[in-house]
Amino acid sequence: MQDTRKALVLFSGGQDSTTCLAWALNRYAEVETLAFDYGQRHRVELDCRNTVREQIARQFPHWAGRLGADHLLDLAVLGQISDTALTSERAIELQANGLPNTFVPGRNLLFLTFAATLAYRRGASVLVGGMCETDFSGYPDCRDNTMKAMQVALSLGLDAPMTLETPLMFTTKAATWRLAEGLGGVALVKLIVEDTHTCYLGERGALHDWGRGCGHCPACALRAKGFAAYRAAA
Ligand code: ZN
Repeated sequence: MQDTRKALVLFSGGQDSTTCLAWALNRYAEVETLAFDYGQRHRVELDCRNTVREQIARQFPHWAGRLGADHLLDLAVLGQISDTALTSERAIELQANGLPNTFVPGRNLLFLTFAATLAYRRGASVLVGGMCETDFSGYPDCRDNTMKAMQVALSLGLDAPMTLETPLMFTTKAATWRLAEGLGGVALVKLIVEDTHTCYLGERGALHDWGRGCGHCPACALRAKGFAAYRAAA
């Protein structure tokens, strides 16, 4: 059964958003992708997006016809209102409030608002994002209640239904790998391992069994741990 709606996927080029893209391609008649460029310290993740989109279109012909336009929105203005390890050379550390200093306050609220505006203009009524309450740093603007509130606010503000889908909200990193395998088999798992990017330090380097990265930063550690748990359960 195919959902005839058009979806817009928040697609950064990382493991989670690539899994979300596959989830959307499996479900919706038409899928477009969106990323935000806000002066991240490393552009490598944005560069991975094109490779992932190309590989998905090449390796999954039944999805290729549904994969529509890609959008890159310049949100450099975020650099003016944030001072974090993502936009400066400061070390990543936990702040007094328990959140890593990579946190840009309210970032996802801004992203979702821009995404909804773009979706409206593109005739899409579903936003898909990789927000997750499990296994992650506890960003309050990624929590399920925040998403539900945003769905209501956006639908009211646009006077049009705007559904927010977050297929990874309650999954562990291991379960995210399993979801990818269920959607696209070992070919999709291999694509995610080799072509997506997660490392905070922007390292590609050697290919580990879980992918490329420094292997030590919180993002690499989380990805490696999740992949090990996925493999152990296989
Ligand atoms: Zn790393």
